[in-house]
Amino acid sequence: MPLEETGWLRGGACRSSDPELFFPLAPSPPQEARAKAICATCQVLEECRSYALRAGESEGIWGGLTPQERRRSRFPAGWRTPAVS
Ligand code: SF4
Repeated sequence: MPLEETGWLRGGACRSSDPELFFPLAPSPPQEARAKAICATCQVLEECRSYALRAGESEGIWGGLTPQERRRSRFPAGWRTPAVS
């Protein structure tokens, strides 16, 4: 991750949080909810979310989104058309 792209991280509400909350070994709904609650208060949420989507971050909570939510955001329902046989 190039430093010039992530200067906004210094303003992140998660800076003083346990990294395990955002990058857990075993994700769970309660852990995701706690991380998202912190993201909801974050002044750089939009920058963080935009970066994670652009960079294709595949792990952890970024910008209030789980990896699955980021994938759905990049490939919304219906984007793939069925193959014609
Ligand atoms: S949006 Fe969430 S993950 Fe991103 S910097 Fe803010 S608190 Fe951290």
